[in-house]
Amino acid sequence: MRWWLALLLVAACTAPAPQARMMQQVAGYARLIDPGEADDQRVLDALAAVPRAEFVPEEWRHAASADAALPIAHGQTISQPTIVALMTHLLRVQPGDRVLEVGTGSGYQAAVLAAMGARVFSVEILPELAREAAARLTRLGYASVRVHVGDGGLGWPEEAPFDAIIVTAAAPTVPPALVAQLKPGGRLVIPVGPRDAVQQLLLVTRERDGRLAEQVVTDVRFVPLRGESGQP
Ligand code: SAH
Repeated sequence: MRWWLALLLVAACTAPAPQARMMQQVAGYARLIDPGEADDQRVLDALAAVPRAEFVPEEWRHAASADAALPIAHGQTISQPTIVALMTHLLRVQPGDRVLEVGTGSGYQAAVLAAMGARVFSVEILPELAREAAARLTRLGYASVRVHVGDGGLGWPEEAPFDAIIVTAAAPTVPPALVAQLKPGGRLVIPVGPRDAVQQLLLVTRERDGRLAEQVVTDVRFVPLRGESGQP
């Protein structure tokens, strides 16, 4: 056998499978962003447990294990796995926590939160996406996720307050209704900034004494939040 062929065979056999490679990238990124918390194994386990390929359209299945954002229906996107991991990590989800998601999209982020043991309440403004995501989540065994059609910028008052809130579309400013629906000690993770430009991922924490603390985490790019508190 030619030496280069042997080398190629060895490389092919030792290269990690796509999902494992994606997980290596996610772990590496987590370490960069938050060196003290690189061992957030629960988040990594949840990402490894949720089959991302099931949440992307047929024509993008081949790319489902890439650490990249991908298109879903209606011009929306499913986030890059490293961003999903980072946002999930920032929420500090504990089993049984009530978590509100604004922007159900494909349902992938909701499934990751459910895999962490959260009780997930997800709001989607586009009825067709909401319907498809709800059916997908049920089919894949995440039937506990509740999906609601509406303007998530207004939160989900009937189910408030929440231990954590995650917004997966970029808002011009932090919607007051979401802050109001956070429990004391609760955490809100949200991209804030103009549409079609770089935005900042914010972590807003409601301290136990009611005060709010805001921290800029990193630059991100998300599709615009619509609705009342959405992009002008
Ligand atoms: N979290 C999703 C990705 C979301 S993309 C996933 O894991 O696949 C952003 C989503 O937010 C889109 O589906 C968009 O329709 C939705 N959205 C935009 N504005 C919204 C609003 N005001 N309320 C609820 N959903 C909204």
